Amino acid sequence: MEEIKITRAATLKEKPDSSTLVFGKAMTDHMFLVDYDEGQGWHDPRIVPYGPLQIDPAAKVLHYAEEIFEGLKAYRTADGTIQLFRVKDNIERMNNSAERMCLPTIPEELALVGITELVKMEKDWVPSEKDTSLYIRPFMIGLDAALGVHASHHCQYIVIVCPVGAYYPEGLNPVKIYVEDQDVRAVKGGTGMAKTGGNYAASLRAGDRAEKNGYSQVLWLDGVHRKYIEEVGSMNVMFKVAGKILTPDLNGSVLPGITRRSCIQLLKEWGYEVEERRISAEELFEAAAQGTLEEAWGTGTAAVVSPIGELAMGDKKVTVSNNQIGPVTQKLYDELTGIQWGRVADTHGWITKVC
Ligand SMILES: *Cc1c(COP(=O)(O)O)cnc(C)c1O
Repeated sequence: MEEIKITRAATLKEKPDSSTLVFGKAMTDHMFLVDYDEGQGWHDPRIVPYGPLQIDPAAKVLHYAEEIFEGLKAYRTADGTIQLFRVKDNIERMNNSAERMCLPTIPEELALVGITELVKMEKDWVPSEKDTSLYIRPFMIGLDAALGVHASHHCQYIVIVCPVGAYYPEGLNPVKIYVEDQDVRAVKGGTGMAKTGGNYAASLRAGDRAEKNGYSQVLWLDGVHRKYIEEVGSMNVMFKVAGKILTPDLNGSVLPGITRRSCIQLLKEWGYEVEERRISAEELFEAAAQGTLEEAWGTGTAAVVSPIGELAMGDKKVTVSNNQIGPVTQKLYDELTGIQWGRVADTHGWITKVC
């Protein structure tokens, strides 16, 4: 692999106070970039001072959303080690997204060193206060400067990082969720299984509407029948019904979350029956009426797990788990965050030490 060329920033920024961090705003001093050109492959890996990109106004990413991304974190353990959680899964998923969006796949090794070398360089930015971490955002963009609708021959893979505060500074408070009945996020055959910016653009309106009505997120239904549960906001979703764990199967429109996969694995190890299948909103409201909807939670890298305390659909409303975090949700949170911050032994090979 080509050596990474490093250009250091002339002046370094002042590091923000971890207690006042707003998610995704305090970017560090440097970023990683590598170019792709058809015929030449990936070339010129480099770490440069963080700053604006100069791209042609006709670049495909700006017009046709030729973009994919990933999200993961670097965690500082009690002994000062900095480590990543399931990073190879992120890279594998990025390459699956690339395939869907006609972007080039990137060799795993190159994608990984882009992340690890940047994290090493910015190691002083990894905060050490409880529940804080360094958020890592790798992304890839199509840069051909031409308005024809074609896949780009020139692309870039870029990694930026920023310290993030505790997701739940006041503890894990359950959220109120609205079952979205107008917009849909994805359909099978579309791009729902790819982590691509356009999915998020299409989700903004429903999210805004939910917020205006006092809900923190929407529960997405499938785009064909408008009946079956897919995801919650930008998280996967799980339910505990009569002792069993239910989660939508990866049907082509659901994003294969790494937190989802980790939760399923842990739950099975703990002896829970986990059903990955079609779940209708109706089924959930019926379970709630019968008193068997015991817990509900979202899963994703940013929040790990997010307990759902209230579900609303049309004029129906149900409270889940007395609007408290349930025991299974709490156990998943404790186990996953324990492994990530090095308080619990990693028996699954999920951790990669950086430095
Ligand atoms: C990233 C993402 C998730 C969660 O994936 P994790 O790998 O667990 O962070 C779920 N749904 C959508 C739509 C996402 O983009």
